[in-house]
Amino acid sequence: MRCTICGNQDLTLLAEELRNSPGRVFHCAECDHGMLEAAAPLDAKAYYATEYRKKFTPSLVAPSSDPAHIFAMHQDSQGNRLKLVRHFSGPGKALLEIGCSAGQFLAHCRSDFECCGLELDDACADHVTRHLGLPVHRQELAALNLPAASFDVVAAFQVLEHVEDPAAFLAEIRRVLRPGGKIILEVPNLHDALRSLWRVPAYEKFYFHEAHRQYFSATSLHRLSRNLGLTVEELQFCQDYNAFNHIFWHFNNAPQQDCRFGLAAPEFPLDASQPVAAQINALCREFDASYKALLAGAGLSSNILLLLSA
Ligand SMILES: [Zn+2]
Repeated sequence: MRCTICGNQDLTLLAEELRNSPGRVFHCAECDHGMLEAAAPLDAKAYYATEYRKKFTPSLVAPSSDPAHIFAMHQDSQGNRLKLVRHFSGPGKALLEIGCSAGQFLAHCRSDFECCGLELDDACADHVTRHLGLPVHRQELAALNLPAASFDVVAAFQVLEHVEDPAAFLAEIRRVLRPGGKIILEVPNLHDALRSLWRVPAYEKFYFHEAHRQYFSATSLHRLSRNLGLTVEELQFCQDYNAFNHIFWHFNNAPQQDCRFGLAAPEFPLDASQPVAAQINALCREFDASYKALLAGAGLSSNILLLLSA
């Protein structure tokens, strides 16, 4: 087995257990990159159209692969992505989002760009077409053979970690970009605070799973970009789940039942007739904002957001 990024064969074992299935993850110290030991390659279209949403549901209480539920759960947590993409909007600007899910990001972009999605899950793709009126491709990028130089922005959030060959995937994105075009990526951070700071035992197993073939760090993203001649214009650490989700993990050694509380600004259902209730919730929000800023400064946030130019 060789490192996906640099080809190094001197890899060390990083994880021996995955979330829902057997498997091992190896680490390349040269690139600070983790990768799943290659099992049989996935048939991505078949896997993401059927099995994936059943296995990786956002809620443990009410498992759902309902696109309307996915949309509602995530539509308000697109802020960091939108801040980055809005610099590149304008008349006639075309945006492709690979892995557009139920359209929670495209819904915010469709007034600023000519938008197009790519989604392998048919129910999600239907939801985007029906509710947002946008075209959605339903095949893997490589199989589509899109015309060269057809987009100003290609976004792929939480996608690159699923790909067997990230270099080939990014090369294909570069081919469909217009001159001066931008690539915006978001991937989970190998140095997520629940692993590297809180060291929650159950999170270690939760973090690694069969759908994630790659485990990127800032170092491995820089190296991959450099190998392809892509310029890293920005690399931001972004924390999705709030501080109270991390505290929950610490005390319970288990995930919260539903991701909605963890993804929102923290608000507790305190008795509003007590004047101090609003102040305490304000304090929790301030604490959460400061906590997230500290994680970002230390490079320990859950996600890395990357802006590349060709
Ligand atoms: Zn490497």
